[in-house]
Amino acid sequence: MSDVLVEKKDLVKSKLKEVFGYTQFRGNQEKIIRNILKPENTFVIMPTGAGKSLCYQLPSLITDGLAIVISPLIALMKNQVDQMNALGVNAQFLNSTLTKSEINRVKRESLDGSIKLLYVAPESLTKQENIDFLKRVNISFVAVDEAHCISEWGHDFRPEYRRIKEIIGMLGSLPIIALTATATLKVQTDIQKNLNMEDANIYKSSFNRTNLFYEVRQKKHAKKQLIQYLNEHKGKSGVIYCLSRKKVEEIAELLNVNGFNAAPYHAGLDASIRERNQDNFLNEDVDIIVATIAFGMGIDKPDVRFVIHYDVPKSLEGYYQETGRAGRDGLEGKCLMFYSHNDINKLEKFNKDKSVQERENARLLLQEMSFYAGSPVCRRKQLLHYFGEEYDVENCRKSAGCDNCLHPKEQFEGKDFVKTAVEAALQTNERFGLNHLVHVIRGIKNDYVNSYHHDQLKIFGSGDNESEDLWKSVIRQALIYEYLEKDIDNIGVLKVTSKGKAFAKAPTSIMLSKDHEYEITNEEEEGSDRPPPNAKAYDEKLFGMLKALRKKVAHEKDIPPYVIFQDPSLEEMATTYPTTAQELGQINGVGQGKVQKFGNQFLSLINEYVDEHEIIPASDVVVKSSVNKSKMKIFIIQQVDRKIDLDEIAETKGIPFGTLLSEIENIIYSGTKLNLDYYIDEVMDNDKQDDLYEYFLNAETDSISAALVDDDNSDYSEEEIRLMRIKFMSEYAN
Ligand code: ADP
Ligand code: MG
Ligand code: ZN
Repeated sequence: MSDVLVEKKDLVKSKLKEVFGYTQFRGNQEKIIRNILKPENTFVIMPTGAGKSLCYQLPSLITDGLAIVISPLIALMKNQVDQMNALGVNAQFLNSTLTKSEINRVKRESLDGSIKLLYVAPESLTKQENIDFLKRVNISFVAVDEAHCISEWGHDFRPEYRRIKEIIGMLGSLPIIALTATATLKVQTDIQKNLNMEDANIYKSSFNRTNLFYEVRQKKHAKKQLIQYLNEHKGKSGVIYCLSRKKVEEIAELLNVNGFNAAPYHAGLDASIRERNQDNFLNEDVDIIVATIAFGMGIDKPDVRFVIHYDVPKSLEGYYQETGRAGRDGLEGKCLMFYSHNDINKLEKFNKDKSVQERENARLLLQEMSFYAGSPVCRRKQLLHYFGEEYDVENCRKSAGCDNCLHPKEQFEGKDFVKTAVEAALQTNERFGLNHLVHVIRGIKNDYVNSYHHDQLKIFGSGDNESEDLWKSVIRQALIYEYLEKDIDNIGVLKVTSKGKAFAKAPTSIMLSKDHEYEITNEEEEGSDRPPPNAKAYDEKLFGMLKALRKKVAHEKDIPPYVIFQDPSLEEMATTYPTTAQELGQINGVGQGKVQKFGNQFLSLINEYVDEHEIIPASDVVVKSSVNKSKMKIFIIQQVDRKIDLDEIAETKGIPFGTLLSEIENIIYSGTKLNLDYYIDEVMDNDKQDDLYEYFLNAETDSISAALVDDDNSDYSEEEIRLMRIKFMSEYAN
């Protein structure tokens, strides 16, 4: 070893402590750093959170000149630059957010050698003026972070990444270090090819995250399932991924309405709001972040306890990357995905406008996703297999690390099935994909089969008494257990591994299971969350007791019972057993006013009842929807607060007066006070008002039709009666 290298080696060790404050390298870090210092092309494949950044940050401090870091996200860059500056390292970024004078400063400091790390967005790198400027800078090496963005087989393809090599080439002959957390063999070869670094030394760490629990559930009544799950993880930090911005907003609101501390995050939000929500999450002012995949790349929060995919993700790579944000501290990390075929169909529709090739790629990625969800094989085994890593299922079984290992599906002897699958691939010369093999096995004649004369094969039709789904499942399991393998060069083609060839000669026992069956659910799960209205799902005994209490209180206060709580509210109480003021406030028709006025007596009754009957109330989840807060209602409340004429409000909103009254009634009946005196005083004299008020005070029911047929009210119009009922309910009940 030359003196220079010895000295550098010592520097590698000392800088770790001196600059970064760490005592030890993790995994391959030291080897990687020494490789790029040699300098040699370096390819780093390491799971999220393992410490890739250090692999280029540290060597940049030792080498002469400045290291360029290409990174796809501006937020990510800023984050890292801040961190480096805090460590006393001069790191800067060059991207579209800088002002002219900031750009000039960055350029000056790059040229005079004071900057050690220059982060550049790929789209800035491709600008001619930047290329011209970089040509004059003394560059030590180039780091391409999130290098999977180069491949359209990755989950995050960025076209500008494709030009990186060409531009680096213009800057001279520079060593490259490429880093990624996700690389199937396909993506890996793509990266190397595109960066022209087939010669690179590859450092691949295991992707296994032993502390993560993987689970897939059928997406059905998903909101209810979600709330239930979150109730079991109350106060813990978590991320919920949704596919659309709209869904993100909707779910964040749903969670807040249901008493969770959640904030949305998506690219459509104002940058300042997005930043605030992210900071609040990092600082634990917010427990749950509901986000599109725009959230999380590079986010380093160690104690995320769960990552939920509310919608099906677009690819297994994306999925794995996102779940990787759970349990970075090595403690509990739960990964739950809600799966529905419907989501897959929706995603396929999104791809409609893409080019034929892109669409086909996206379709295959989705297909993998769907296979994963349906497969009975250990999730961990499947995921690692997807990333080209072998894994012994026993380990996951022992620690019950996934749903399929925790609740294994019934097994059957698969020897003959796998033999048939392998034979089918062999007899068709290992040149076909899954669907064709299934056709051949099941003896289905089509043009394809005919043109290759595959109906002449010995294997043709030998499995015709089993279903198509079963054969597909068998072939996929044969793939995961490595009897078959995918051909890297020909997408979709299945070949037989040496293990498979040995097996075909002398088959041995292999246990298989059947796939999960996910029902085809209709459109959205919403609406079906509530029990049908006339099913008596409620506790009739408690309902009776609540009614009796209502009567007693009404009597004491000398008001009609319906003013206190309406029957549907009592029914809901007898279904969900609210035991705290907060829970009571979640019942439909019960606002905070009612909780304060009447809550205590009802709560103590329910509490006693629950204790006596040993009822566990939390087990039944009510999903409180936020419909009461619709824009229309908010508008009306604001207008009434400003004492705007009701006729004018109706006109502004373009609705009939009667509809406006119905909206107001809904507002009142869900527990919000509204003061309409300014309007009522104008349209009705005091006598009329007192008369109707008196009527409601003594009536058996608040029904309008009952009021209309009452002889005492014959002088009053329906509108007047409704207005007075609103006034009465608002004053008495809320
Ligand atoms: P990746 O880019 O691989 O997802 P990061 O580079 O963001 O991961 O690193 C994840 C975390 O690990 C960071 O908080 C980083 O400071 C920390 N880290 C990296 N290397 C070490 C080390 N050798 N010792 C202790 N912590 C480390
Ligand atoms: Mg990183
Ligand atoms: Zn498992």
